[in-house]
Amino acid sequence: MTALEATVGIIYLVAATTFVLGLHLMRSPATARRGNLLSASGMATAILATVALVAFDDSFHVTAWGWVALVGGTALGGVAGAVSARRVKMTAMPQLVSLFNAVGGGAAAIIAFPELMHRFEELDLLGGAYTNIATSVLIFVGLDLLIGSITFSGSLIAAGKLQGWISGAPITFLGSRVLTLVAAATGVGSVIWLIAAPGMLPLIVLTIAALAFGIFMVLPIGGADMPVVVSLLNAFTGLAVAMSGFVVGSDILIVAGGLVGASGTILTKLMADAMNRSVLSIMVGGFGTGDAPAGAAVASGGEVTRTDADDVALRLAYASKVIIVPGYGLAAAQAQREAGELGKALTERGITVFYAIHPVAGRMPGHMNVLLAEADVPYPQLLEMDDVNPEFSTCDVALVVGANDVTNPAARRAGNAISGMPILDVDKARSIVVIKRSMGHGYAGLDNELYTDPKTGMLFADAKKGLGQILAALKEYAA
Ligand code: NDP
Repeated sequence: MTALEATVGIIYLVAATTFVLGLHLMRSPATARRGNLLSASGMATAILATVALVAFDDSFHVTAWGWVALVGGTALGGVAGAVSARRVKMTAMPQLVSLFNAVGGGAAAIIAFPELMHRFEELDLLGGAYTNIATSVLIFVGLDLLIGSITFSGSLIAAGKLQGWISGAPITFLGSRVLTLVAAATGVGSVIWLIAAPGMLPLIVLTIAALAFGIFMVLPIGGADMPVVVSLLNAFTGLAVAMSGFVVGSDILIVAGGLVGASGTILTKLMADAMNRSVLSIMVGGFGTGDAPAGAAVASGGEVTRTDADDVALRLAYASKVIIVPGYGLAAAQAQREAGELGKALTERGITVFYAIHPVAGRMPGHMNVLLAEADVPYPQLLEMDDVNPEFSTCDVALVVGANDVTNPAARRAGNAISGMPILDVDKARSIVVIKRSMGHGYAGLDNELYTDPKTGMLFADAKKGLGQILAALKEYAA
């Protein structure tokens, strides 16, 4: 081993340590930014070390065009990633995460191709048979291609659904389940074929089957199961990267991919549990659809009671415990600052304030935590679903801001798109205020009977505007 190789190996070790420490820091919203920065710096250092190794180590023979591709690709990808991450609206973050998953999975899959071509070429020159390729290499190439291609096509479909380019509703057609099974069986079968008889044909069949499976797997998934799918595809990206690390013998790819795969798998399991679904049923069976069609009225039909900002401010001013329930509408309206200011104003009046965080509120895992952390809401006031639910029965006002599905009592009944999804027990509060613009549906497309509960007052407004009006009215009471 040369001195350069040894140095780069040590840099990889340090980078891997920053990934683990970064993940550890991401456990709390208070330290998450630092964790992100630490891991990103570790990855940047590892990339630079790799470029230095390729440039100065004699065993690499990179042509001029190779350098153009290497430097050009890094610059193009880096700029595209930085610009899209900076410009993306918070509400479009899940689509971006999905696109990043697609790029990660696709890149990992592409790594397998030249590596195997290279080995085929060497054996051709030496007059050897392809069967001389080590079985372990073929296994990793096969798994890399399989998982990477599924992630690529599945993530593109998920991004299209989240963006609204493809219908968010489950898409099925005659024989679609059979096609899914055929694609899955062909993909797995082709990995075995590739190992038994290495060659171009199994490689091509494997790639096509895996791409098709990714599409067929995600198309029928709709409604409430989408967050789990995005998280699952993220775990797949990690696994594909780890496999590509085995293919090219890169420790850093194995470590980074393994960490993403493991943490993504844990997150997927947690989210599936939080939505009372099994990951397997989402992938192959349940597809997150209920019997009720989207938009179906679910035991609704009661009277809607309207309220206004003055009335809400009065109710809040005389409360001793208030729980603010943020949802997607708060993110869409970018009303996190107003929500934070309202909580602060109430706390200053001696009122106990909590923010109820549902695991799938918004459009991406941890969406509400990220937004409220941005608004400097004190972390002890952010309560996860299991911790906040017992608080509702003793809370004077539950203030729902742009949340719908995560508060819908229909989840407690069978036969609809969110059946079985644990919800925030807002209906147990002594009085309820909901800020949203209309009686419009949430992501799952269902009526919400919370809105016709006699305890509920509906403040029809944009979340930012409504919260602003309430804050202004509250200040008048204080004056
Ligand atoms: P929902 O999508 O159920 O409802 C959001 C509500 O916000 C709508 O009913 C809408 O009503 C209201 N709204 C929209 N814009 C505004 C605005 N500017 N001001 C005020 N209100 C507004 O949100 P929830 O957070 O309750 O639930 C999240 C849903 O998204 C779940 O079904 C979850 O499964 C799904 N999902 C979650 C992901 C995640 O990772 N967290 C990813 C993908 C999907 P109106 O139009 O009347 O204002």
